[in-house]
Amino acid sequence: MSAQDKPRFATLWLDGCSGCHMSFLDMDEWLLDLAGQVEVVYSPLVDAKEFPDNVDITLIEGAVASREDIEKLLKIRARTKTLIAFGDCAVTANVPSMRNPFGLEAVMKQVYLDSNAIQPQVPTVTVPELLDRVVPVHRIVKVDVYIPGCPPSAATIKSVVSELLAGKKPDVMALTRFGA
Ligand code: SF4
Repeated sequence: MSAQDKPRFATLWLDGCSGCHMSFLDMDEWLLDLAGQVEVVYSPLVDAKEFPDNVDITLIEGAVASREDIEKLLKIRARTKTLIAFGDCAVTANVPSMRNPFGLEAVMKQVYLDSNAIQPQVPTVTVPELLDRVVPVHRIVKVDVYIPGCPPSAATIKSVVSELLAGKKPDVMALTRFGA
């Protein structure tokens, strides 16, 4: 816990479409309640540059597709108590893994060379080194809670976060089955 005795809360966006974060914002007025209950220390929604130490809850959207993603995940796992695979891309690799059957080389050739008639070239600057295969978060680090869905509903996200803040281990399957 922080000096203010509030849980330290973070969200991260790896290889996803931001749809899970959009669903998070769909919690609407409950976001105000949440803001009163936690200290948001890192997220695409706030202006924090470095993932801090001693984070209580971190939601991770997106699959793992690059070496940069792996480095971020290892750091975040070491600094987070409860790490949540947030949405189907984090849980199963989902849409980003659709490139896996074709192989990285063939995909890069199709996207940057064959489909680009004006200036075909594979980018090498400011582009993270991609992994041969896209994998879900649990293939790299231990996951404590899974929230499936593409995206998960705002009600499900709210239920999971509420239970964690109440000191409970959420039963996400039950929450999802009954349409929470
Ligand atoms: S799970 Fe769906 S909504 Fe979430 S990042 Fe992946 S594709 Fe987007």
